[in-house]
Amino acid sequence: MRTILYSGRYMSSSVSLYDATLKQFERACKLLELEDWLVELLKKPKREIVVSIPVKMDDGSIKIFTGYRVHHNDARGPCKGGIRYHPNVTLEEVRALAMLMTWKTAVVDIPLGGAKGGIACDPKKLSPREIERLTRRYVYAIKDFIGPYIDIPAPDVNTGPQHMAWIVDTYSMLVGYYEPGVVTGKPIELGGSLGRIEATGRGVITVMKELLKKLNISKDDVTIAIQGYGNVGFHAAKTAYEWGYKVVAVSDSKGAIYNPDGLNPYEVKKIKNEKGSVIYYDHAKKITNEELLELDVTVLIPAALEGVITEKNANNIQAKVIVEGANGPTTPEADRILGQKGTIVVPDILANAGGVTVSYFEWVQNLMRIRWSLEEVYNRLERILINAFNEVWRIAKEKEISLREAAYVIAIDRVAKAIKLRGVWP
Ligand code: NAD
Repeated sequence: MRTILYSGRYMSSSVSLYDATLKQFERACKLLELEDWLVELLKKPKREIVVSIPVKMDDGSIKIFTGYRVHHNDARGPCKGGIRYHPNVTLEEVRALAMLMTWKTAVVDIPLGGAKGGIACDPKKLSPREIERLTRRYVYAIKDFIGPYIDIPAPDVNTGPQHMAWIVDTYSMLVGYYEPGVVTGKPIELGGSLGRIEATGRGVITVMKELLKKLNISKDDVTIAIQGYGNVGFHAAKTAYEWGYKVVAVSDSKGAIYNPDGLNPYEVKKIKNEKGSVIYYDHAKKITNEELLELDVTVLIPAALEGVITEKNANNIQAKVIVEGANGPTTPEADRILGQKGTIVVPDILANAGGVTVSYFEWVQNLMRIRWSLEEVYNRLERILINAFNEVWRIAKEKEISLREAAYVIAIDRVAKAIKLRGVWP
């Protein structure tokens, strides 16, 4: 047993995110009967960049930070993936997340590859000016490895539109012209796409809706529990509520709330904004995050951390369906237990792909110097996710495998075919 980092905190588990990602990859390779050389090639990233970043601190001292950028694969298009700021960012974690991005872009069939980046730092202990200097110097250090046709970063844990604004400005100053296509998740004023902020949460509910249709579960019978009330969790709750579903439980790092009659996500958000947590919402029972995961609901949406559904609690999960809003919330052992129990799991690489899909739209709009309306973004997003879901469902039924295995099989097959068609040069 080792202690590993799962998105900003340590959890006890027998596998790291990297081991789990590799395990899932290897299983799908077997199902695909992929040639050994392709397995070996895809197991490893194309390129890993580790940089030392000296930063002038506000007190006049100079501190050296370590930054990473990993390009997993670009056979189908430029690399794509977020940048994470966290004290426990490691090369191994970034490597796993980069590989997940390759499968995510492939399963929804957008012409991009997979990458991820990060800086080992505690942004809570840095001033805004220090974070700006850190970001700009990181961009300078990796400038030769990013660009609209090479690798397009985006926000991830503890980074957002302001960081992306500094990235586009620094890169543009280095190349000598304004290049919005170098990064996505930018503020709207700098070429960000409408609909990007809610894209992941909205995508989670779009995919959930398609699955419930397949299972013939009527909207009136559906109850939903959501772990995490940040970007993904709140927008999933909001979309579910707007589309007429009953959200009965939500949570954040301080705890969870439950009301079997349903919650109003906007009122809960208002209280969280005012008082700092969903737990201060009055019209619900306070429960723990662990209890939320084990509620008797139709749909469970883990949208906070990695590794929260493990061999320890998988047997207690009562939800019929799990839609993975977070990256890697289910360990491989838990996945096996859930499969035996008949719980249907929509895997992260499909369920939370709405974010990267609208990032792709942002990049396309930037390259074409055009702007799409919110309606156009929503329509295109829905089309892509519904097509991807139906394809994953079809393969799962045809091959009698789980949705996760089907998603991996489709994604790896697409990437492997692209590599073979391009050939090994020289
Ligand atoms: P966020 O920082 O906006 O929100 C995270 C939420 O999780 C917060 O409400 C926080 O209070 C809560 N949380 C933290 N620790 C917790 C704990 N111990 N128990 C319960 N809740 C806890 O992050 P986000 O952007 O919503 O991302 C959430 C997950 O979704 C991550 O795994 C991320 O990698 C993944 N994801 C995000 C996007 C995106 O577009 N934002 C896209 C794909 C995947």
